Amino acid sequence: MTETNEKPIIILGSGLAGYTLAKEFRKLDAETPVTIISNDDGRSYSKPMLSAGFTKDKTAAALALATAGDMATNLKASIRTKAEVTAINTEEHTIQLGEEVLEYSKLVLALGAKTHQAPLEGDGIDVVYSINDLEDYDRFRQAAIGKKRVAIVGAGLIGCEFANDLVNGGYEVDVIAPSTSVLPTMLPEVPAKALQAGLESIGVRFHLGALAHRVIKHEDGVKLCLSNGEEIETDLIISAIGLAPRVELASKAGLKYQKGISVDRSLQTSDPDVYALGDCAEIDGMVLLYVLPLMNSARALAKTLSGTPTEVTFGPMPVVVKSPACPTVIATPADTNGEWHVEGEGQDLSCLFKDAEGQLKGFVLTGAKVVDKLALSKQLPPLLG
Ligand SMILES: Cc1cc2nc3c(=O)[nH]c(=O)nc-3n(C[C@H](O)[C@H](O)[C@H](O)COP(=O)(O)OP(=O)(O)OC[C@H]3O[C@@H](n4cnc5c(N)ncnc54)[C@H](O)[C@@H]3O)c2cc1C
Repeated sequence: MTETNEKPIIILGSGLAGYTLAKEFRKLDAETPVTIISNDDGRSYSKPMLSAGFTKDKTAAALALATAGDMATNLKASIRTKAEVTAINTEEHTIQLGEEVLEYSKLVLALGAKTHQAPLEGDGIDVVYSINDLEDYDRFRQAAIGKKRVAIVGAGLIGCEFANDLVNGGYEVDVIAPSTSVLPTMLPEVPAKALQAGLESIGVRFHLGALAHRVIKHEDGVKLCLSNGEEIETDLIISAIGLAPRVELASKAGLKYQKGISVDRSLQTSDPDVYALGDCAEIDGMVLLYVLPLMNSARALAKTLSGTPTEVTFGPMPVVVKSPACPTVIATPADTNGEWHVEGEGQDLSCLFKDAEGQLKGFVLTGAKVVDKLALSKQLPPLLG
């Protein structure tokens, strides 16, 4: 790459948000220097594959699409890996990596979300894993070699996807959660039961209404102790109790944040030269921890950064749960003004959320009914019009 004195656009994060933005930007501007900084190894990969890797029998290396070096060449960017950004100075237009200071023209925060840690204690805690990036997945896959049993703490979307995936990979799976149903924040009761039944039909054992609190070493594995007195013998534990946008750097820099780093529809933070997108961002009050919103955001922000101010829009964005034991699609209604209408039986359910005027505002489809996803999506209002 040619050396230049022009201050670069700096993107913090080499996840799907950071790399997609760089790709979209390069389609519009081949010359402006771009630096991408990440505290991971900078490999490009599709994070959704992390909860389908056992089904597809893919190691972390096989899930990696490109190295940081290849990405640097393809994107005509400078990429720094294993580099922890420790501070941002918006007045000086600088970021800090420990003692080192780098100047930016524009700064983009694509810092992702961090996992909440299940509050477990005990001498078996070293078998507890969170899987939120390729390196986590690699560590877990290595640990799973020769093991048979996995307990998953959390029955949300990611916990249920891992449950299905690990059964497909030949493991015995227990799922523990304090809620009385699966995906409690996303699914009404009836489709939640259908998804749970689908997962049970392939062998997943659910322990709902109970908290996991202690892991004790036991013979060749561990015992996971639950608040209801149950003890589960297992080899490995995955903590999947939720994610929170990474806001710490933004908060220390005095940028506004609530659940995520606050940005307007131009993806601009409270500082005019700092932008945010992906899992770390809260756009117009919405935190959307999915791929489609970050793709739309990356396209809009690439235009803004290349000189055409552009606001992001989101159409309807149904979420597909990777649960082949009971295929499930969820379009969460934006508010609670309406009622669920459930049709179908067994695993094949069509659950429509309609307001008093009969306008469709959300839906859940399970089993054979998932084929209606596209037709129903067309009837939904946009998430951010
Ligand atoms: C198991 C799993 C399955 C999923 N499945 C789906 C799915 O099926 N469909 C879907 O739409 N979504 C899915 N998602 C969500 C989707 O993958 C995410 O929304 C998306 O990948 C987030 O990308 P991101 O770039 O915002 O964040 P990340 O990929 O987390 O990237 C954040 C980057 O910031 C870097 N970073 C953080 N802090 C610092 C620092 N201080 N200094 C330097 N670098 C830093 C990290 O190293 C990383 O490179 C899934 C998520 C998980 C965990």
